[in-house]
Amino acid sequence: MGDRIYLSSPHMSDEGYEMTYIKEAFDTNWIAPLGENVNQFERELAVKVGSKAAAALSSGTAAIHLALKAAGVTEGDIVFCQSLTFSATANPIIYQNAIPVFIDSDLLSWNMCPRALEEAFEKYPEVKAVIVVHLYGLSADMDKIVELCNEHNVVLIEDAAESLGTFYKGKHTGIFGDFGIYSFNGNKIITTSGGGMLVSNNEEKIEKARFWSTQSRDQAKHFEHSELGFNYRMSNIVAGIGRGQLKVLDQRVEKKKYIFEFYIKELGSLEGIEFMPRNEWNEPNFWLSSMILNGKVRPFDVMEALEKENIESRPIWKPMHMQPFFEKYDFIGTGVSGKLFENGVCLPSDTKMTEKDLERVVQIIKKLWCE
Ligand SMILES: *Cc1c(COP(=O)(O)O)cnc(C)c1O
Repeated sequence: MGDRIYLSSPHMSDEGYEMTYIKEAFDTNWIAPLGENVNQFERELAVKVGSKAAAALSSGTAAIHLALKAAGVTEGDIVFCQSLTFSATANPIIYQNAIPVFIDSDLLSWNMCPRALEEAFEKYPEVKAVIVVHLYGLSADMDKIVELCNEHNVVLIEDAAESLGTFYKGKHTGIFGDFGIYSFNGNKIITTSGGGMLVSNNEEKIEKARFWSTQSRDQAKHFEHSELGFNYRMSNIVAGIGRGQLKVLDQRVEKKKYIFEFYIKELGSLEGIEFMPRNEWNEPNFWLSSMILNGKVRPFDVMEALEKENIESRPIWKPMHMQPFFEKYDFIGTGVSGKLFENGVCLPSDTKMTEKDLERVVQIIKKLWCE
């Protein structure tokens, strides 16, 4: 059996940029708290995506939590949340004791369906915020979603955890709404081992998020707290990894795109395979190459055949409205997200894969169509 091929594993720069920044932190003993890497990582990421301000945090989940808090979401408030996503998108709604209403996806984008969103606004005009997700590095149909949120004067939060390096009509995902978040968890397109970023053009709100993330310490010599605090700040070591990784983001996107195009070329004509949607407005980062299977070969067959050969793959996210923990909340839509889940597979999209690795993957899959 060959070496294990991963879905998406950490890939540090060949140049060793990450170690340089970490070493700087060691040499100046800015291991903690904060320090230059944190400040610079915030600045560099903000420039990269085109946002005015950014707060470096301990995770993408923490960033969503503080975005909801900054949006003024509190107990009993309704928040519209894309159903097809990772649970980390929805959990912070519960941290705030708010009420999620899950919104279906459409086939055109795999992300939030603008028509379902419109229907949700009719049913819950009192809604406080909307969380849209850019899954697998595909962008949601932002023009329509932004327009609907503006019309209803509702805060828009973009979960761009999977879409760093993705553009919608030439503009980076994560900066269309009032708040955007990114994740640097282990399998994301770039990683700091763990971490997240909250971005916004509202510098005051970002400053406030930094305050909450460091235990809400008021200006005083002693420890004075007039608000609930959190320990959500990113460390200076972790930020050093992030600065190095940011330098190779474009290279990673390029490789992810190459992998996707390889799969299309090799597998695209097989009966019943449909790859993730490409739209003229979408410039994805191709974080995970994903496909849906409508024919005789089922997702489980593909995942099992790959696993037998020591290759990792996984299903599409199971929608939140189908999760035992969340199923009591309302869902608006026709069930597209459920169908994507039932028929979808994410193929190995590791940027360290060689030509030989890619060949191995497609040969195993092709064989399933000959049986
Ligand atoms: C990874 C991920 C998150 C959470 O990010 P963490 O940094 O792991 O907390 C949130 N939303 C989506 C869609 C993700 O894929």
